[in-house]
Amino acid sequence: MSGKSNVVLIKDGKRLDGRKFDELRDIKMGVGVLPRAQGSSYLEWGKNKVMAGVYGPRKLHPMFLQNPTKALVRCVYNMAPFSVEDRKRPGPDRRSVEISKICSEALDSVVLSERFPNAVIDIFVEILQADAGTRCAGLTAASMALADAGIPMKDLIASCAAGKVEGEIVLDLMKEEDNYGECDLPIAIIPRKKEFALLQMDGKLSRQEYSKALNLAMDGCLKVYEIQKQTLIDSAKVEAN
Ligand code: ADP
Repeated sequence: MSGKSNVVLIKDGKRLDGRKFDELRDIKMGVGVLPRAQGSSYLEWGKNKVMAGVYGPRKLHPMFLQNPTKALVRCVYNMAPFSVEDRKRPGPDRRSVEISKICSEALDSVVLSERFPNAVIDIFVEILQADAGTRCAGLTAASMALADAGIPMKDLIASCAAGKVEGEIVLDLMKEEDNYGECDLPIAIIPRKKEFALLQMDGKLSRQEYSKALNLAMDGCLKVYEIQKQTLIDSAKVEAN
């Protein structure tokens, strides 16, 4: 988020990739892609490519971490070294630790974890290709993998960002917009309750801009939610046949 660039991000009311201000990038998703995982999903969101796998519920070790009233919901977010233009150093860094934490907390807010005392539910989110918005894509994919694993949940988590680019409030920032825009506001919601599971902000917005961006991001989440539900319905139909 530098807010400064020589790159023209908006021209004739259209964005770099031809989208309107309130338009999402193309989204494709599927579930049941990793046979060895309890549940899994694959998501393409613009140029982002993400896989998620769920393992558990299984007994949590070491035992001192166990909670007799609920399961630990543990999400690990990892960006592959080849996922970005300049090779990324492999392994965890401050950013991936932060994203793992916020994803764990968001997913914990929907999983009925009290049904699995002393257990752990591990969710692995692997970013194979990154083009901004990977935390939203990762969370969306993770909740699909949990649903595919048959883990009882209140609802899915649907996630999307809005932000400010060249003074305009826009939906779902791509990499150039994320790098050179003025603000990024990723959110995640529990759609049926319209509750927030994540709200972050990088950059500056006025109060009016903030409320416009929040509403736009909410609309984005609801569109993502429709695609998630349809994907799960389609996969159930394939299984039934
Ligand atoms: P998000 O992917 O959730 O938008 P950030 O705003 O931190 O998270 O990152 C924006 C984008 O910047 C990423 O999607 C990725 O394309 C790029 N990026 C992040 N970390 C790195 C890195 N270590 N090396 C190269 N590019 C990176």
